[in-house]
Amino acid sequence: TTDLLKVRNLKQYFPIKGGILGRKVNDVKAVDDISFEVKAGETLSIVGESGCGKSTTGRAILRLDEPTSGEVEFDGKDLLALSKKDMRKMRKNLQIIFQDPYASINPRQTVRQILSEAMNIQGVVPKDKQEDRIKELMDTVGLGPHQIDRFPHEFSGGQRQRIGIARALSVDPQMIICDESVSALDVSIQAQVLNLLKKLQKELDLTYLFISHDLGVVRHISDRVLVMYLGKIVEIADKKSLFDNPKHPYTKTLLSAIPVPDPTVKKEQIILKGDVPSPIDPPSGCRFHTRCPFATDKCKNEDPELRTNDDLMASGHRAACHYIEEIESGEMQPHE
Ligand code: SF4
Ligand code: MG
Repeated sequence: TTDLLKVRNLKQYFPIKGGILGRKVNDVKAVDDISFEVKAGETLSIVGESGCGKSTTGRAILRLDEPTSGEVEFDGKDLLALSKKDMRKMRKNLQIIFQDPYASINPRQTVRQILSEAMNIQGVVPKDKQEDRIKELMDTVGLGPHQIDRFPHEFSGGQRQRIGIARALSVDPQMIICDESVSALDVSIQAQVLNLLKKLQKELDLTYLFISHDLGVVRHISDRVLVMYLGKIVEIADKKSLFDNPKHPYTKTLLSAIPVPDPTVKKEQIILKGDVPSPIDPPSGCRFHTRCPFATDKCKNEDPELRTNDDLMASGHRAACHYIEEIESGEMQPHE
């Protein structure tokens, strides 16, 4: 499989205007030098706590906010080199669906208007074919074609997210970035929308970058998972490898917080000390060192690289920790 999206050394720093209380302060390093690929046809999830940089990454890829530096290559094209106009055209191939479908659709437009507007912007479907296409899209996302003249408020939250999906599909994209797209929905509705996304992926050969703070959702939808902490990638792996065999202490902590379906399986619960530090002045060395139960002086001084080892190599599993092997073997024990 080929890489549809390649992100290289992406940085997104936001200046803080006027500083804090008149003092000049550093930029917010929301995303700080990350590189990864999304393969054609797969779902790569980005997971992490709020403020880790996952949504910022999605927005920077689409240039909804211009990234500070780095490279973004989509389908062989350098997105950061495109003019604004060509970038808008490119969004035909690369769509985004947000958390709150109501916020991103115009409440005064009917579904017909919402979908035909999207098609007109990209000039993908001639006017006389749009009605048929809109009905077909409604059918595709599991809403009746007879509902095309209704307004967003006449639909439930889950149905509105289906309209958001139909709008993204209306321009026939190759890839969709889903930013917390099911997070606002009830759990049972979440499952329905996730299943719809999976079905559409198969039928339409779609590639997803799926951004979520919810590991349960991520487990359901992903092929591979990327974990972020304070603007950095701390671990990336196949879903199974990540969930069964997490290597980074932060990933272990995240996973230990989700309930195990089988109550006879004993799971060691790891409690994190303190809050996530500020991305304005992130900790030196390994950014996780202020909360990591294994941290040493080396961790305070040296930023660990995202790396693999002999055991992990074949599966492409990588983690950014100095002590993957020592923690694995038990040679290093968590301190109190
Ligand atoms: Fe913890 Fe050190 Fe590994 Fe960072 S590098 S995760 S602080 S052990
Ligand atoms: Mg977010």
